[in-house]
Amino acid sequence: MNLFKYVWGMLFRLFPCPTRIGLQRIGNPGRNSPVLVTCNFYITVRRLLRKLRGLDAWLLIADSKGVNVWCAAGGNEFDTRSVVSVVKTSGIGDLVEHRRLILPPLGAPGIQANEVEQQTGWSVKWGPIRIKDIPDYLKNGQHRNENMKRVTYDWLERLDTAMGSLFPFFLLGAIGFLIFGPNLLMEYLVVGAATFVFFMLTCPWLPGNRGLTKVIFVEVILLGILIANLMVNPQNRFLTQTHIIMAMIMLFVYGSELGGLASTMSSDFDAYLSRLGIKSIGNAFFAGTLRTALLTGHRVLTYYQDTCNGCRSCIEVCPMGCWGLNENKRAQFINKDHCTACCACLVQCQVEAIKAEPKFNPDKKDKERVAHESLDKR
Ligand code: SF4
Ligand code: SF4
Repeated sequence: MNLFKYVWGMLFRLFPCPTRIGLQRIGNPGRNSPVLVTCNFYITVRRLLRKLRGLDAWLLIADSKGVNVWCAAGGNEFDTRSVVSVVKTSGIGDLVEHRRLILPPLGAPGIQANEVEQQTGWSVKWGPIRIKDIPDYLKNGQHRNENMKRVTYDWLERLDTAMGSLFPFFLLGAIGFLIFGPNLLMEYLVVGAATFVFFMLTCPWLPGNRGLTKVIFVEVILLGILIANLMVNPQNRFLTQTHIIMAMIMLFVYGSELGGLASTMSSDFDAYLSRLGIKSIGNAFFAGTLRTALLTGHRVLTYYQDTCNGCRSCIEVCPMGCWGLNENKRAQFINKDHCTACCACLVQCQVEAIKAEPKFNPDKKDKERVAHESLDKR
């Protein structure tokens, strides 16, 4: 059962893979041990338990409908309500003397920290983004260095995330070949897997910052090879035209979805599906969220410096390092081009200095707001 769940969670991340909600002991926790909160996605909980081996802590597993932190927070399934509920029903208040929760920062688009504090009486701290950094964070007096606040998306994370999201599409292709062209099935599997690994390993170095732009670069090279191959050696058995065409189709699928797989990129697919009125596939939400409103240009991210009180919440939760403080101790949008419209900053801003507004707001003078309009041009 556990092996089945593990494989399901790894390869079918578009669909829920839940584990038990509630309180879990790690090691031999006491009344001053830290209290971590996470989602109830099976793979996340397993990885956390493995990484925290040898430490003493309490783990609160909150309801996210069996979806990982990032997707569930974006789809409003891992939210304030789920955290408040697990704090109130788990009995953790009787087991520890302090009242401090450590939350996963990629949950910030769904969980309003101030609401959790008001409804539970517990204070909220954002922990490291990556599970592997949690032991160091705990040993370091719960201090996060800059690395622990930023999404990196290295090659292992790319392979891991992309495999979980793209495998169902890969499988659908295999079923198609099995039914309509079984003699090409083995070639499809080899070419599909090889293009997947190639693209995920090389994508940071390909030109452009969106999946489709990167793919177009490779597609043009492949098209050149295809034409040259057709002209020079139409009977080439090693690098057949069929294989090249297969690779081009697979790359297009991978590139279209790449943006939606990572918090470091904006999604191409989400915006197009949202425009077509398709609201969700499995765990992936394309419409009805603030993020899609920003990505499709229905809204723009706006910032009102006069309203800002300098609380730093936006700086703490932005996984892309877009916010800083200016000399007046007010927030400043320093890295607009890295923004992926995750909405964590505007969800955490208690005074509504950051908003998602219609592009033209007749009630506001344009000079009062800093509108991040480059998002809607994507
Ligand atoms: S913009 Fe909002 S969240 Fe950011 S520092 Fe100002 S008040 Fe705090
Ligand atoms: S600035 Fe952009 S990337 Fe950063 S938290 Fe806000 S919406 Fe997310």
